Amino acid sequence: MTTIGEVDRTCALCGKTSEQMTLGSTNAMGAPDLDLRPSEMQRSTMSLWIEHCVHCGYTNKRIDLSVVGAEAVLPAQNKPEQALSLIEQFLTASRVADLTGDKTQAAHYALCAAWAADDKEETDTAVRCRRRAIAYFNAATDTPDADPDQRLHTRVRMVDLLRRCLDWEAASQLAQEIMTEGADGVIGDVVRFQLKLCKQGDANCYTVADVD
Ligand SMILES: [Zn+2]
Repeated sequence: MTTIGEVDRTCALCGKTSEQMTLGSTNAMGAPDLDLRPSEMQRSTMSLWIEHCVHCGYTNKRIDLSVVGAEAVLPAQNKPEQALSLIEQFLTASRVADLTGDKTQAAHYALCAAWAADDKEETDTAVRCRRRAIAYFNAATDTPDADPDQRLHTRVRMVDLLRRCLDWEAASQLAQEIMTEGADGVIGDVVRFQLKLCKQGDANCYTVADVD
């Protein structure tokens, strides 16, 4: 069950107050997608994962948190006082997270934008958002102090992102690298499944339960 609250929040950027919906609790029944998008009911709570200021467009985990330079990454608003699309909200949150140096969070929000685009069947936008997520995930894993387990899980996830972008070659190559480095258990099963899908030219969405 999903519980939702309401709170008045003052924007750290423009100083105006707006009502924000907050997620009290939710649940996910069943397996997540291969890119770890949660199942329902959590799946449908995406708009509650971020806060959005309708006055200036600022979007972040909480809009009362200030981030230096955030004004520069807000999208130009055509209609002031009107909320941006969920896709644009997550892309904005992604750029704000990037400003803080948190590449993993920037990647996560870009992927959320892709999920919002998937829901609207905006295929080209979804690909653009996934490519952005891939770039941030690359930056997050390409550091000497990256946790090896975290890095492995991120790279397995990236195989799915590349495949969903129809980038069969890059997806297969990354999957092969992961297999060569040694992937066992569920990870091995997922990566082999991804290789099969790439071979078949299949860019559809699958869940972890679909892995055979
Ligand atoms: Zn604002």
